[in-house]
Amino acid sequence: MVAHATGRYAPSPSGDLHIGNLRTALIAWACARKAGLGFVMRMENLDDRARPEYVETQLRDLAEIGIDWDGDVLFQSERTSAYAAVVRHLLEQDLLYECYCTRADIRDAPRAPHKPPGAYPGTCRDLTPEEREAGRAKLAPMNRGPALRLRTTGEALTVTDRVCGSFTGYIDDFVIRRGDGAYAYNLVAVVDDEHQQVRQVVRADDLLESTPRQVYLQRLLGYEMPEYIHVPLVLNPRGQRLAKRDGAVTLRELHASGWSTKQIFSLISSSLGIESDNVVDFVERFEVDQMQREPWFFDPSGPRI
Ligand code: GLU
Repeated sequence: MVAHATGRYAPSPSGDLHIGNLRTALIAWACARKAGLGFVMRMENLDDRARPEYVETQLRDLAEIGIDWDGDVLFQSERTSAYAAVVRHLLEQDLLYECYCTRADIRDAPRAPHKPPGAYPGTCRDLTPEEREAGRAKLAPMNRGPALRLRTTGEALTVTDRVCGSFTGYIDDFVIRRGDGAYAYNLVAVVDDEHQQVRQVVRADDLLESTPRQVYLQRLLGYEMPEYIHVPLVLNPRGQRLAKRDGAVTLRELHASGWSTKQIFSLISSSLGIESDNVVDFVERFEVDQMQREPWFFDPSGPRI
């Protein structure tokens, strides 16, 4: 384990990183280095789409643009006993309950007016032992076990983000362990951030929505809350989140269209308002509070270089 406070980058190795992911990683790295924090790398490889070959290519691409990290890369696939220990701790405090709902059950359930769309309606929160038995029996033919949900207070929780300002989310009884036995993202992110002594979380702003739930869990577990910095996503010219199908968006693809590493770096850097072709110079000049906050539109088919 690293000995001091850190920032981190936590990619999911389900494909090559695209230029938007590299930009977020660069911002995370620069924020940490500027703040005098360590910087750690974590592979969120619990998802069944994770592939070892992408672990290799993602780390290679991050290193190619000049990002370095402290210590060994942490793999979530090697952390299941830590997640199990936290689940046991929550079970002992009666803070988890089994949920037998399918997606359709949740969608079709009546919802109290104060609960926002998509919030868990609480169907399995207070069942009798007989009802629980029936729930398990319903799932057995589907080859599924019950999910475990956190018994929350159902409050609204406001977090303060350095870029996005105040953000309030309603805390429903969210999933801690899925029906297929996989530990849920909100749990593993919080447990690993604590384990890696992460005090600054920089990530794309599509995850801002998850942050109140993560903060709720940190408080429950007595963890320290990191600073949050959510950065705008990179969009394609149609205003949609940039994706591999948009064209040349990965380092490998951009190299094949004639871009050098320095040119790609300069492009990312200029999208942040800094003319620079390397990390050493970039980190000197980068100020998160002056960062361009609009989404960056990247056109993989547009004029080049
Ligand atoms: N693994 C997530 C992603 O690649 C990031 C999770 C996080 O930063 O908390 O989008």
